[in-house]
Amino acid sequence: MPILNRAAEMQEEVAGWRRHLHQNLELNLDVVETAAVGTEKGKAFGCDEVVTGLGRTGVVGVIRGRLGNGAVIGLRADMDALPINEITGKPYASTTPNKMHACGHDGHTAMLLGAANYLAETRNFAGTVAVIFQPAEEGGGGGNEMVKDGMMERFGIERVFGMHNMPSLPVGHFAIRPGPIMAATAEFTITVKGRGGHAAMPNGTIDPIVTASQLVGALQTIVSRNADPVEALVVSVTKFHAGDAYNVIPEQAEIAGTVRTLKKEVARMAEERLQTVFASDVAAAVAGDAQVIRAMPPVMGGEDFSYMLEARPGAFIFIGNGESAGLHHPAYDFNDEAIPHGVSYWVRIAETALAA
Ligand SMILES: [Zn+2]
Ligand SMILES: [Zn+2]
Repeated sequence: MPILNRAAEMQEEVAGWRRHLHQNLELNLDVVETAAVGTEKGKAFGCDEVVTGLGRTGVVGVIRGRLGNGAVIGLRADMDALPINEITGKPYASTTPNKMHACGHDGHTAMLLGAANYLAETRNFAGTVAVIFQPAEEGGGGGNEMVKDGMMERFGIERVFGMHNMPSLPVGHFAIRPGPIMAATAEFTITVKGRGGHAAMPNGTIDPIVTASQLVGALQTIVSRNADPVEALVVSVTKFHAGDAYNVIPEQAEIAGTVRTLKKEVARMAEERLQTVFASDVAAAVAGDAQVIRAMPPVMGGEDFSYMLEARPGAFIFIGNGESAGLHHPAYDFNDEAIPHGVSYWVRIAETALAA
């Protein structure tokens, strides 16, 4: 069962939507226009219901199968861009300074729209598919906002599936692993308050830059000297702000960063394994068994989909983006060649999970 013919036929159209989203991009929870595109298209495809404003700007489209009653599954895509200046030079590149779809969420949204179109046309399943378009994946907690807003209960969602592109994994390939695939994340900010003064008289000051610098060094030892070596843990300092003059020791310094760990309740493991095996079988049906890595090593990039996986069992898969710049790189671009593979995966997940 390779990619679906209809999904292949759709590629140009879906790529057009993707490029439109690429150029008309928004950050965080403010994905108003992007959500409007999803809403408009969901209605045009004939979704039975399109609900907006979940978790502020999230959208859910409901598609009921024509083969009778059955379970409800959620398929999720993210919509937000990043505060990065794009350097791809593509004709559809962002024209907004410091905004760029550098994580491929334009592609994720477009592929799920393609799948929604297909599923609304064919409805070849028993039960219901909820297509979920979430805001604020990049640190704004959009997935959590939608869950807190009662999305799972409102639509009766029993299982959820997520997908993310992966540079350097060849197009037409998928990668998945049992258990946690991306890290749980926590952000921290530490403000070091000192006593500012003239740079020529440091003895009269308490220099917050020196203190904060030592703190950055100390934070590195959490992983190397405090954590159990067999447990995965990453601590990264990603911001250091202090001072604004050559000759002034500032009053304060601020450092911020992120802590990531893979630890998760063991109780869910069995269920998760089942979902993962199921999802990897679907990927193998679309891509061919040799093109699916079933036990990829976990990556330490955070994924907001973990909030949905905490609420419901499901699986998260990576789809090959081919040889491209890395995620969050200013030269990154989503690979439109991946579209038929992604659309086929979504359609087959729905038709397999909700087989009559
Ligand atoms: Zn990202
Ligand atoms: Zn992303």
